[in-house]
Amino acid sequence: MTEKPNLLILSGFAGVGKDTVLNHLLSNDARFAPSISFSTRTPRPKEIDGVDYYFITRDAFEAKLKRGDFLEHTEFCGNYYGTPRSEIERNAKLGRITVLEIETDGATQVMELTDNYVSIFLAMENFETLEARLRGRATETEESIRMRLAKARKELLLLPRYQHVLVNYNNRAADVAKTISQLFFNEPLSYPELCVSDIEEFVQTLSKT
Ligand code: 5GP
Repeated sequence: MTEKPNLLILSGFAGVGKDTVLNHLLSNDARFAPSISFSTRTPRPKEIDGVDYYFITRDAFEAKLKRGDFLEHTEFCGNYYGTPRSEIERNAKLGRITVLEIETDGATQVMELTDNYVSIFLAMENFETLEARLRGRATETEESIRMRLAKARKELLLLPRYQHVLVNYNNRAADVAKTISQLFFNEPLSYPELCVSDIEEFVQTLSKT
């Protein structure tokens, strides 16, 4: 018998608004719990160690990696990111679903390890919107924006690996969060217009923007 999924894999282009969607999901649906990743990135203003990430040095990250502490890990734009196994174990004991907000490389690793997940990719309607959102964040250097956009174009090709792709239109974060929960529990969708029906075709269209 297959077990009920206990992981929500949530990926999306950097700058697409994953954090806002995730905040809506976590504050409105107690069945989901976050997983705090380890990262070697420099904290952004307002980010808190132990809340947004556990910020650590490369040496400390590599030591944890050697010990096998991570379910998955990746190097993204020059920094390490990893999901500690302990986060999932803790949530599972409490009967809660762990949300893994991770990029495509880490997501692929998790998909190869287990079947107990629902996978969702958050996209936007075109790349101009993504660039505008990255610039609007005003925390990224030009170099970081360039790297994140280049990474997004590569990630685009991996969308067909996900079970669902949602478009995070401006001001629809709460609706997107509700849709994620409904997809996870196989419930009727309140906002079916947010779901991409043909992922291959969507990739083609987006790649031309
Ligand atoms: P940011 O630097 O913008 O916070 O995150 C960059 C990317 O790394 C985002 O796509 C985010 O989802 C992803 N990410 C954050 N934590 C992890 C993790 O533990 N593992 C993986 N594979 N990706 C992560």
